[in-house]
Amino acid sequence: MRYSALSIFLNGLRGNTGWTSAWHFPEPRPHYDVIIVGGGGHGLATAYYLAREHGITNVAVLEKGYVGSGNVGRNTTIIRSNYLLPGNNPFYELSLKLWEGLEKDLNYNAMVSQRGVINLSHNDSQYAAQMRRGNAMRLHGVDAELLDREQVRSMLPYLDFDNARFPVLGGLLQRRGGTVRHDAVAWGYARAADQRGVDVVQNCEVTGIRRENGRVVGVETTRGFIGCGKLALAAAGNSSRVAAMADLKLPIESHVLQAFVSEGLKPFIDCVVIFGAGHFYVSQSDKGGLVFGGDIDGYNSYAQRGNLATVEHVAEAGVALIPALSRVRVLRSWGGIMDMTMDGSPIIDRTPIDNLYLNAGWCYGGFKATPASGYCFAHLIARGEPHPTTREMRLDRFERGYAIDERGLGAQPNLH
Ligand SMILES: Cc1cc2nc3c(=O)[nH]c(=O)nc-3n(C[C@H](O)[C@H](O)[C@H](O)COP(=O)(O)OP(=O)(O)OC[C@H]3O[C@@H](n4cnc5c(N)ncnc54)[C@H](O)[C@@H]3O)c2cc1C
Repeated sequence: MRYSALSIFLNGLRGNTGWTSAWHFPEPRPHYDVIIVGGGGHGLATAYYLAREHGITNVAVLEKGYVGSGNVGRNTTIIRSNYLLPGNNPFYELSLKLWEGLEKDLNYNAMVSQRGVINLSHNDSQYAAQMRRGNAMRLHGVDAELLDREQVRSMLPYLDFDNARFPVLGGLLQRRGGTVRHDAVAWGYARAADQRGVDVVQNCEVTGIRRENGRVVGVETTRGFIGCGKLALAAAGNSSRVAAMADLKLPIESHVLQAFVSEGLKPFIDCVVIFGAGHFYVSQSDKGGLVFGGDIDGYNSYAQRGNLATVEHVAEAGVALIPALSRVRVLRSWGGIMDMTMDGSPIIDRTPIDNLYLNAGWCYGGFKATPASGYCFAHLIARGEPHPTTREMRLDRFERGYAIDERGLGAQPNLH
């Protein structure tokens, strides 16, 4: 069923009884050309682009829970391509371009909202670093505007410009950045992949990876053994656990990141505001709630819940930036598991094991990457060679000494 204004109108006349399920609930088949582990944004997007770009449709996405139960439905919905390094920028810009056409492409309303993303600066060195980043972006053909203090004030008058520790000096604005409704992205890709013949199998946990003569031949699951020609891992926060099933040790630590939503307020934040110095970012949803987050909890965990010390830290950072927030009540919070690499950049690569492909290490930033991640991972799986924008996102870069350290902070997940 295609979604359109006419279909909404006609179904409205029939009391909305004509809608069909957005995707099927298939029983897993004994064998697929490609199995993707993880029905998050990246796994589903990979399946969709395998079918659309490469005509590979004998594909299963195996998801241990339900579609959208992982980070794709837990993030703070920010998309942007304001990256500095050549190993990152073209990839994230490809992603932003794919976001721009995504809803038409998937025939699904993902509420892509290019409302602008502004990163604030609070001292001279930060301002200079933003200037450098903005110039690097423009050299890559990406939009970037450096704002001075008064320009920021005209956009965001409610900030504490004269905060003793974090006075606002300016900011770097990317107008094409913004937000996308996170779980709609999972639903949109699941529906579009399903329509092209992909099996999206929910409640099917991968519990083992079977190898014969060094090659992957299939996976053990809670619904039995399923054979495959190629196996692609897109398990985000659980990447190291799943890779361990093939005796592969990843340069990744899993950490919890929390998100928060306030009570509904009248519209007052019309873009995404990022306060990197205090680690706080906020936007306002269409329902009026402030959607915000901060730093990772700082200890290794596979639990999808965080602790109160971080809640306090995020609240302090928020109030330091926007004092009026002290009177706002938080309605909901939750946590997701972040697959943190030691340089803060992702991995889209083959592994040393035949037929085993890896998509992991997305840290805080994997939501914005979803379309390009799927597009480039599908390219790698189908053609056996990396997409030009992911050539540096290799698994062995850590042992070779070619880290993509976007923030120049060294091997510390809590600083990326
Ligand atoms: C609180 C929070 C805020 C964030 N904010 C942003 C943001 O504003 N912008 C941004 O760009 N990024 C953000 N991120 C990061 C982003 O959400 C993730 O990097 C990205 O969603 C990860 O890719 P995914 O969607 O495929 O992951 P997931 O949705 O987690 O998908 C992985 C799936 O694999 C499944 N799985 C795991 N193990 C198995 C198994 N053994 N068998 C079968 N299935 C398995 C899981 O159930 C899960 O559904 C945020 C993350 C969190 C938690």
